[in-house]
Amino acid sequence: MVAELVSVGTEILLGNIVNTNAAYLAEMCARLGLSVYYQTVVGDNEARMTEIFQTALGRSDVVIITGGLGPTKDDLTKETAAKVLGMKLVEDAHTRQRIESYLDDYVKSHPGNTVTENNWKQALVPEGAKVLDNENGTAPGLILEKDGKTVVLLPGPPGELKPLFEEQVYPYLKKGQPEVIYSQMVKICGIGESIVETKIADLIEKQDNPTIAPYAKTGEVHLRITARAKDKAEAKKLIKPVTRELKVRFGKNIYTTDEKKTLEEAVVELLAAKDMTVTTAESCTGGAIAARIVNVPGASDVLKQGFVTYSNKAKRKYLMVKKSTLKSEGAVSEKTAREMAKGGCFMTKSDACIAVTGIAGPGGGTDKKPVGLVYIGCCVGGHVEVRECHFNGSRSQVREQSVVSALTLLRDCILEYCY
Ligand code: ATP
Ligand code: MG
Repeated sequence: MVAELVSVGTEILLGNIVNTNAAYLAEMCARLGLSVYYQTVVGDNEARMTEIFQTALGRSDVVIITGGLGPTKDDLTKETAAKVLGMKLVEDAHTRQRIESYLDDYVKSHPGNTVTENNWKQALVPEGAKVLDNENGTAPGLILEKDGKTVVLLPGPPGELKPLFEEQVYPYLKKGQPEVIYSQMVKICGIGESIVETKIADLIEKQDNPTIAPYAKTGEVHLRITARAKDKAEAKKLIKPVTRELKVRFGKNIYTTDEKKTLEEAVVELLAAKDMTVTTAESCTGGAIAARIVNVPGASDVLKQGFVTYSNKAKRKYLMVKKSTLKSEGAVSEKTAREMAKGGCFMTKSDACIAVTGIAGPGGGTDKKPVGLVYIGCCVGGHVEVRECHFNGSRSQVREQSVVSALTLLRDCILEYCY
């Protein structure tokens, strides 16, 4: 079944509020197994709302409309939807009573306020509508059924919309929607987006159920595999062979299949599993790698020390980088990164050290050493590996990419050299 979301409100069009309702409802529809092909925002204007409601009803089975159910003149959603569906508005005695008692309580607890006449229009409902009691406001939610189409009207404030949806709309739609959508994440590091896409082009080409959707993140690619089935177990069965195939194609570059797990969590887990300690030796990342590691609960078991050695002097003093290396090769060089990693291990007696030196920009670049040139060194169990990276983007983007690449190199070296 196809669902469509329509958000009503001029303030959304103007950018005064962010359309969080649509994001929330889209996720809920996915959970229900409803396909969402369109989301629209329309201002508080009857003619344009009419046009959008008609279009939505023409192409979707379920239309969820939010906002504009309140008492004021510009709240036109219910009136317009009723007109489009050819339904008369009638007063709902039960809703009238609920509004009376809600406003009575409100006036009592907010001295100086009175109940205004326009509130009673919220007790009018399209004839035959299923009325959803709103515990957090006056305007009820409404479900309208006509000619095999379902229209759901919900108040705009998220604190009213969410409980109404979860407690009343979700179970209602669930009954008419036997399928579930379930998805599994595969997170990849150390390979660029275009290479990942090329490697799975054939799978994407012939995909139907499940589908594979790639999402590029800084230094990572996430693949979401989504299946539609009669229940979760059946969906998992459909997803399993695809995950298996991805594991064959990407091997160690897959760092997790857990939706919630981050790269730094995977790295900390790996270090802990191998009973290893790590030290960071950072120049252009300025402590950001250590900060990412410290994000993970339990980091204290593995993180021994973090150096921020921004000056040459600090690189020499704390990491034993040779004066001659800095002089002949410069601070941003393969050899400096190598010595930083080695020196970091030695000085702290850590099992591993990850080191970064580079030019984050925007200034400081030369023809030979342009902005974005970053050397990442990793010393593990006597092996030192250095990667030369060329990153694009702003200073913060270069630094962010350096951090992710450093975590990736650390992980690669542990997997390679530590059994
Ligand atoms: P009210 O009775 O409060 O007027 P309503 O159903 O008429 O409710 P609107 O007037 O459209 O809803 O919006 C009221 C408030 O709800 C907005 O000011 C905004 O804070 C929030 N809101 C409305 N639509 C959205 C949306 N799509 N996403 C997030 N918040 C929203
Ligand atoms: Mg309103």
